[in-house]
Amino acid sequence: MTVPTRSCLVCRRRGDKPSLVRLVAAEGVLTVDEAARMPGRGAYLCDRPACMDTLLRTAGAPAARALRLTERPAHYDGDALRAAWETATRHNGGATTAGRSE
Ligand SMILES: [Zn+2]
Repeated sequence: MTVPTRSCLVCRRRGDKPSLVRLVAAEGVLTVDEAARMPGRGAYLCDRPACMDTLLRTAGAPAARALRLTERPAHYDGDALRAAWETATRHNGGATTAGRSE
């Protein structure tokens, strides 16, 4: 069995699925799929801050292309997107068990 690999939509660096953050378009809005469980086409962004910067600087264009969104630039909340991505990447790093109470 091989581990599925995905490549970052900005830098094309390949990685194991868990080291990349999944992005989806939820009702046309670009969203981080933190649990990687949302249906539909996904695009992947790696954990490098430069890649998130590029994504936001280009108004989500690489993601819109990868997700085949009809609306360009993509609709998204940049702050929310970055915050979710930061949460997801820190979680993937898994250094400590930060107290997430849910
Ligand atoms: Zn990247």
